Amino acid sequence: MKYVGRLAPSPTGALHLGNVRTFMIAWLRARSLGGKMVFRMEDLDHPKDKPGAAADAVRDLQWLGFDWDEEYVQSERKDLYRDALSSLVSRGLAYPCVCSRRDVEAAQSAPHEGEQLFYPGTCRGRFASWSEAYSFLNPLSSSTSNSNSKLQLQPPRIPCWRFRVADGSRVAFDDVFAGRFEQDVSATLGDFPLARDEFGAGYTLACAVDDIAMGITEVVRGDDLLAATPAQILVTRALGAERDISYCHVPLVVGPDGKRLAKRHGDTRIAAYRAAGVRHEKVIGRLAASCGWAEEGEEISLAALLPRFDLSTIPHAPFIAVT
Ligand code: GLU
Repeated sequence: MKYVGRLAPSPTGALHLGNVRTFMIAWLRARSLGGKMVFRMEDLDHPKDKPGAAADAVRDLQWLGFDWDEEYVQSERKDLYRDALSSLVSRGLAYPCVCSRRDVEAAQSAPHEGEQLFYPGTCRGRFASWSEAYSFLNPLSSSTSNSNSKLQLQPPRIPCWRFRVADGSRVAFDDVFAGRFEQDVSATLGDFPLARDEFGAGYTLACAVDDIAMGITEVVRGDDLLAATPAQILVTRALGAERDISYCHVPLVVGPDGKRLAKRHGDTRIAAYRAAGVRHEKVIGRLAASCGWAEEGEEISLAALLPRFDLSTIPHAPFIAVT
């Protein structure tokens, strides 16, 4: 089976050293195996998406020497996500939920793994449809003659969709980089959110739909998503994937304080390096050195790294970028 990998940036900000290190590993992994690369812009996160960031990411990646064989934009694929959601709903695998984050936090009986909240299934079987859940949250929404302008100015509250996790849903997989990972999704997450709005255009669902539709065989991405993977595997299986996708979670780039690379650590935007006249071989060389494929200070193009690519030399600790 031919390897199909993906680069899936979210246009929530400028591309920086952190994203690019992961993309570099993903690209080299696919190309070194003679595989295909899919580019997917994950632009469904409207409140966080920045105008122009999608086009900038493409330009930055091309400047660095990345290429791909197919290109997709998630905001143009919402019909597919809606169809997938309808299929889950019709099989009793998804239901609308009106609980706020605060409600879910209040229902926690014990601390659960990581940052993810455990959801005890409060809205399971509670509403016959999404519109019923919507009316529950917005009892005045259909009343156009309402004289209370204060109430009319409130933005509507939107139910989310949750995935119905069967009891004892334990998922185990052998991550290509991170090793064996196991999670009892029913005990750790409970019925996790699938989509944030009526039409199912949310990250967890969109990602599963697209990975299947695009024939992705392996996902290489940052290990901040490792704990979210068992839930994604359940959705992918529920959507009828013929086989599990392989996963390869690699360590993130952090600042000297050990926190995920961010603006406060200095300007590591690719666009800033380019504007300052830094050569792309220098940016790639620095990241390659952090993976054990180049000497410190060596300048090398992405394509020239192909014969040196080796997953086993990448340190398992996060890469500390000193800017
Ligand atoms: N779009 C996500 C991000 O930029 C990546 C999701 C994924 O690779 O599955 O964080």
